[in-house]
Parts: sequence; structure tokens; C-alpha cells
Amino acid sequence: MKIGILGAAGRMGRAIADAAPAMGADLAGGVDRDGAVFGPYRDTAELAVGTDVLIDFSTAEALAAHLDIARVDGGAIVVGTTGLTAEHHRLIDIAAQDVAVLQSANMSLGVNLLAALVEQAAARLGPDWDIEVLEMHHRHKLDAPSGTALLLGQAAAKGRGVTLSPPQHDRNGARSEGAIGFASLRGGSVAGDHLVVLATEGERIELGHRAETRAIFARGAIRAAQWLAGRPAGRYAMADVLGL
Ligand code: NAD
Repeated sequence: MKIGILGAAGRMGRAIADAAPAMGADLAGGVDRDGAVFGPYRDTAELAVGTDVLIDFSTAEALAAHLDIARVDGGAIVVGTTGLTAEHHRLIDIAAQDVAVLQSANMSLGVNLLAALVEQAAARLGPDWDIEVLEMHHRHKLDAPSGTALLLGQAAAKGRGVTLSPPQHDRNGARSEGAIGFASLRGGSVAGDHLVVLATEGERIELGHRAETRAIFARGAIRAAQWLAGRPAGRYAMADVLGL
């Protein structure tokens, strides 16, 4: 089973290349914005033809083209890129009619388990509990709130039986009733810290996760690719891979 990486020169692309040998994964090639990074494939289209599954850790702007290429080729694609809009999610749903697509803003076991715990907590606690999601990432991160913070906010909203939109981010002023709030910090080399605070009069619960290394996302993405290759067309999530 051959894997191709999109965004191969980036931080996550390199982390996946580092993690692959220990997982017995066949990384057949990787391309970045300017063409081949390793392997014989000169561009995304050649990479898609030559491999069974693509792993995309590039930018949201490139997603539409990457989904189109995966559809034409008929191979599977793992989408780890974040900063996705509602339109991106609509394009993923359309592509998933023709190919297997697994999209997750966080590929780690820990965060996906945390999301399940947050959903459960939000379902059991009444509307008098305020929910805030706090995240910190390295100074180069482009999108905010992080895809993982939104994933956790969505889990909380699901537990409450409401939809999450639009998210209140770094608010200035009074908290609106029932809001799920977000706050973002950027600095240094932090791989990803997330804290979900559920607070009411007199007490609060804090559920959190700290990523100490990108290797956890890289291993999760490879595991997702190995799981996805050969699956029927459809949209899948990390919870499917992890059996959560
Ligand atoms: P990065 O900026 O280090 O790497 C992105 C790479 O994509 C760059 O090398 C860039 O040149 C390349 N690129 C841009 N346009 C391209 C195109 N059209 N075709 C091919 N390559 C292209 O960023 P990063 O830290 O590696 O993160 C990449 C993405 O993954 C971000 O959206 C980030 O938030 C996300 N991320 C997701 C998870 C997860 O578990 N899902 C974990 C970490 C990061």
C-alpha cells in the first residue's frame, strides 16, 4: 500500500516521513507547492496516480484541487489540513461520494478520546455550565481558533444537542448565554495544548490535552491512511479508525 504526502516539505510532512519507517509504511513520494520533495512523482496528479492513498497536510487553499485530483484518480485521501470553512466541508462531502475521505483536525488518540469525554460532560451538565475552549500553538500557526479547538467545541455542542456557529472567539464584552467560547494563544514551539473549561457558580471542570511532539499526529495520519486504503467511498473520521 503506497502512501503519498501533500505538503511534504512542511512540519507535518517531515514528521510523517520520520514516523513512517517504524510503522512499516511505504511512503512512495511527497510533493509540495513547488513540486517533488522525494520520490519519482513530479506533481500532485502524478503522485495520486502512483499511490493508493494521499495524506494532505498543506493549506486550506489547496484542498479543493487536492480533492479533485483524488476523485479523478479514484484513490483515498486523508485530510489533516485545518482552517477549513463550511465550503471546504461541503467539498469534502461531495468528494466522499466518489472516494474514501478521512478528515480530522486532530489525528491523535488523546484528543479524539478527549472529544468523547467533552461530549459526555456537556451532555450531562445543564445549560448553567459555561463552556470555554482555550488553545496554545507555536508562533507559525496560521489559523485560529485551531481546528482541534473547533473539533472540541463541536463535541461540546453535540453533547448539548445544539449546533456550533458562529463560534465566539477571543470575546470582548459580555458572554452570551449558552455560548461555547474560544481563546487562542500563539508563541514558541508548542505542538498543541487544549483545555476545555466547564464552569458554573462555585465550581469548574477542566479537561485538557498537551501534544508534546508532532509525532503523535504523524503516527495517527499514517494509521488513518493504512486503515482507509481500499475502503468504499464515504466520509470517515478518526473516531472510526480508533474505534471510539
Ligand atoms: P507548514 O506550513 O509547515 O507546512 C505546510 C506545507 O504545505 C508547506 O511546505 C507548504 O509549502 C505546502 N503547500 C502549500 N500549498 C501547497 C500545495 N498547493 N500543494 C502542496 N503543498 C503545498 O504547516 P504544518 O505545521 O505542517 O501544518 C500543515 C497543516 O496541518 C496546517 O493546516 C495545520 O494546522 C495542520 N495540522 C493538522 C494536524 C492534525 O492532526 N490534523 C496536526 C498538526 C497540524
